[in-house]
Amino acid sequence: MIWGDFHIHTEYSGFGHATGSTEEIYAAAKKLGLKQIGFSDHGFRHIYFGTNKRKLFKMREEVDKLNSQNEIKVYMGIESNIYCSDGLIDLQGFDRSILDYTIAGFHKFVWGKNLIDGLRFNFPAILGMQDNATIKRNTKAYIRAIKTQNIDIISHLNFAMNVDVIEVGKAAADYGVLIELNGKHVSMKDEDILELERLGVKFIINSDAHNPKRVGEVEIPFSVVERINLNKENIVNWQKLVTFDKQK
Ligand SMILES: [Zn+2]
Ligand SMILES: [Zn+2]
Repeated sequence: MIWGDFHIHTEYSGFGHATGSTEEIYAAAKKLGLKQIGFSDHGFRHIYFGTNKRKLFKMREEVDKLNSQNEIKVYMGIESNIYCSDGLIDLQGFDRSILDYTIAGFHKFVWGKNLIDGLRFNFPAILGMQDNATIKRNTKAYIRAIKTQNIDIISHLNFAMNVDVIEVGKAAADYGVLIELNGKHVSMKDEDILELERLGVKFIINSDAHNPKRVGEVEIPFSVVERINLNKENIVNWQKLVTFDKQK
């Protein structure tokens, strides 16, 4: 059983991509008996689903208000986009002091750095290319993001963008970045997840809910954990409270 769910989208993601106000999600989490939740709407550079920066300030106020109820601890994050070969995320220049934690992942339909890099980095992922050169470039971007961008969690690794999971995992272990087992799709091979565990990677299980009904829904990653017998000690939100310290 997880005590916290830290990948939850709200109505603040762009374009009607997700539903549910922060209050509705809070109520759903309370009903489930969760002790911690985190909001993580899509990063600014997503062409469709990117969150408006102004809405994040509004969300901060809402989060502080929810926390004043002293029931569930609410964290405010974002699911930022790794948008270029250099491994930058779309929080460049944004004052991160309003965030409690940062998730980073790759998504299709995100504004690239420029046309040439977009063709090299974003476009092959849209086409689902899996050749060695593409995987090498993607892996390098993820590792650079881990090393340089103060990330707490990598979301749905190997989904939407193919990488060398083990190489990314080594960097994640070194830099204390959590690898997510995502509630909608676990796209890493069983043996790779077990190898990550041997390398010292810590995991987090999240729903990736896009509506209040799916908050805390982690059946898919849970069945993976059971099947491969992953040690639950290595899952940071498994009957444990999570703390984040990278944004401070
Ligand atoms: Zn989404
Ligand atoms: Zn995502």
